[in-house]
Amino acid sequence: MAPARPRVVLVGAGHAHLHVLRNAAVLRAAGVEPVLVAPSTFHYSGLATGVLSGALTADRAQIDVAALASHFGVRHIAAEATAIDRAARRLRLSDGQDMIYDALSLNVGSVTPDPYHLTGQADVWSTKPLNSLACLKTRLENSICSSRPDPAIVIAGGGPSGFEIAAALAGLLERNARRPRLHLVWKREAGWGPRRATSRLTTALQRRGVVLVHGEVVERETGACRLSDGRSLACDMLVLAAGLSAAPIVTATGLPVSSEGRLQVGPTLQSVADPTVFAVGDCSVMEGSPRPAAGVFGVRAAPILLHNLAALGGGGMRRYRPQRQWLSIMDLGDGTGLAMRGRFWWMGRSALALKRRLDLDFIAAMRAPSGEVLQD
Ligand SMILES: Cc1cc2nc3c(=O)[nH]c(=O)nc-3n(C[C@H](O)[C@H](O)[C@H](O)COP(=O)(O)OP(=O)(O)OC[C@H]3O[C@@H](n4cnc5c(N)ncnc54)[C@H](O)[C@@H]3O)c2cc1C
Repeated sequence: MAPARPRVVLVGAGHAHLHVLRNAAVLRAAGVEPVLVAPSTFHYSGLATGVLSGALTADRAQIDVAALASHFGVRHIAAEATAIDRAARRLRLSDGQDMIYDALSLNVGSVTPDPYHLTGQADVWSTKPLNSLACLKTRLENSICSSRPDPAIVIAGGGPSGFEIAAALAGLLERNARRPRLHLVWKREAGWGPRRATSRLTTALQRRGVVLVHGEVVERETGACRLSDGRSLACDMLVLAAGLSAAPIVTATGLPVSSEGRLQVGPTLQSVADPTVFAVGDCSVMEGSPRPAAGVFGVRAAPILLHNLAALGGGGMRRYRPQRQWLSIMDLGDGTGLAMRGRFWWMGRSALALKRRLDLDFIAAMRAPSGEVLQD
């Protein structure tokens, strides 16, 4: 009897797993059976604010994961992993099924932290998962179409996501000839980019009507939200955009995680405590090389992950070192962008043009090609 092929369950269709799916033939050639557990649609963050601002239609920022898996001959279960029993090497899925694995690879991204349990209350939206931004856009467009006064919107979060969401919402309102009533509430000085870049961005947003408020949103009230120092801000819609922490399934592994719930991995992308569990992208952190949440790290780790998963069928593993510098470009919702790399930055139309080209090229490269199904 032929020996059983080790089964690797890919959880989440994040940036790295999209690459692994497209190269599933490498795993099969190595004697490894890949199975994907993930929602059927991937929402690409690089274009999410372009969709929110109304510059792009939603379909341009999505990848049909089911079609991709089917094209490359990978069994796909359209569900989320909800629990992990590592002793039994068993995953519990949101559709009630159990799935046995030999190795697990997590690329489940991140969620927006909600320390004050505001999600679920009336008109509270969080930036992650990204499909909630599409719902926010629809809600805002409906409100714009009605004869009601423009809603007061509060964005909680002074990191790059908070600023980018504020810029995108300003863009959406400007496109509809409305004057933004936006408050961006930030807890700490923006230390996530060169000081002159964040100060130029702040001035640009203020000119467009965004009011910046120092503080922390801790409570939702009718028509308002309350800050930790007791002040109240008029608020019809509250957007939570304060940071990113790893998706909850990561802590459910019971393995060592960082303070943001990211799985601690070594250079081979395996958990420091369990070599059967791999993790990449936002849901992981490499010992000694912490990096912020950004899609580029999953993209760069992808070939190493593919190689190391194939090595489960025999062979040595390769080591991944995240780069020290990377380009990040924010879409400012008005046809301009802010590009940053280390201490270098520039703001303007060319920055956004470069971002669009990189992001649309990525989406095009990752989508399933039309034509025959590959099943070797
Ligand atoms: C508004 C905003 C704009 C951003 N813009 C940029 C940008 O321009 N460039 C950039 O590099 N980064 C950007 N980021 C950061 C970026 O979103 C993340 O760093 C990046 O998406 C992480 O990629 P990933 O591959 O780790 O996971 P993701 O791309 O988040 O993919 C994870 C996937 O796993 C799925 N999943 C989650 N939980 C489960 C589960 N339990 N079971 C199965 N599947 C699951 C999710 O549905 C998702 O499809 C932005 C973030 C925000 C909030």
